[in-house]
Amino acid sequence: MKKFNQFLSYGRQSIDEDDIQVVIETLRSPFLTQGPKIKQFEQVIADYVGAQYAVAFCNGTAALHAACYAAGIGVGDEVITSPITFAASANCVRYMGGTVVFADIDESTYNINPEEIRKKITPNTKAIIPIDFTGQPADMDAIMDIAHKHNLVVIEDGAHSLGANYKGKKVGTLAHMTMFSFHPVKPITTAEGGIIVTNNEEYYRKLQLFRSHGIEQTDFSVMQGGWYYEMTDLGYNYRMTDLQAALGLSQMAKIDTFIKKRREIAAFYTEAFQNIEGIIVPQQLEGTNSGWHLYMLQLEGISRKFVFEQMRYLNIGVHVHYIPVYWHPYYRKLGYERGLCPNAEKWYEKALTLPIHPNMTVEELSIIVSNIKELLK
Ligand SMILES: *Cc1c(COP(=O)(O)O)cnc(C)c1O
Repeated sequence: MKKFNQFLSYGRQSIDEDDIQVVIETLRSPFLTQGPKIKQFEQVIADYVGAQYAVAFCNGTAALHAACYAAGIGVGDEVITSPITFAASANCVRYMGGTVVFADIDESTYNINPEEIRKKITPNTKAIIPIDFTGQPADMDAIMDIAHKHNLVVIEDGAHSLGANYKGKKVGTLAHMTMFSFHPVKPITTAEGGIIVTNNEEYYRKLQLFRSHGIEQTDFSVMQGGWYYEMTDLGYNYRMTDLQAALGLSQMAKIDTFIKKRREIAAFYTEAFQNIEGIIVPQQLEGTNSGWHLYMLQLEGISRKFVFEQMRYLNIGVHVHYIPVYWHPYYRKLGYERGLCPNAEKWYEKALTLPIHPNMTVEELSIIVSNIKELLK
């Protein structure tokens, strides 16, 4: 087996000299934050996904929090989400005092199963937060059907899926609001950062309000004078800086190249592993084209822990995404118990994330593949 000299992470940013230059230029400009770059970045993202409005935030978690605020989620409201996600998809409901309801995943896509959502709907259900897990869009037609029937708001957690396609469309207008994250491992980066895109003007207004202390210019403040503003609700300082937005603009010029590269890597892995005993390769739902934020195998008949530890010893940054959210002590204390979502738990025991990011070389990929095959013997 072959060991890498340097640790190869499962995901990482791709930053070129031109990315560095735009950030330096912004540092020399009059605005470090709340300048023109934010609006430009919002416009570029909105145009890219075909949405009317975009509101940028300091990170994706803050963006999800704001979306829950805009959706009017509060104490007593139930919000249905998947247990196979990063904790933030559920935590945002808790920030608003709402109750998280976990619905089990589909065995073949690892995304939330619409049939399981249906079973969890009660008169208190207010919203659904599907995750485009690994970059593969959730079954959004089925989810939106359920939402229309029960008058629910859908906030799509697209942290993994900027640039992914669903039935000929880019992710971003399938739900009422869609969140993208710009953490360094995500499809593009602003270091930290997130955004909500929507076609709903009322959500747009509320998202902006929440991002900046609940302060706005009202008719009353205009009457009072140019200095006057009103704080009409309790908001936060969740703003993105112009430095981040400048980096985001530069990164967006390369998104299609990044996604193309990720799709090539995924195809390479699938080709290498699809007929290997003990390995299940990821499947795509008909009509979707994943952005491949993550590439995940399921291992059968071999200890996942053994493979994980051996690969880590070889400096290969395999990982596991994710521990079912309700297994965490915080959620256990709220009363969630093991066994709640059997498919998710079964899947979690077998799952292994392989490195995937735009700058990986064919040589690196070949070493990863041959090491895994060797370990399975
Ligand atoms: C990364 C991520 C988030 C949160 O985004 P941050 O920008 O890191 O706050 C939310 N949901 C999922 C599924 C994520 O992977």
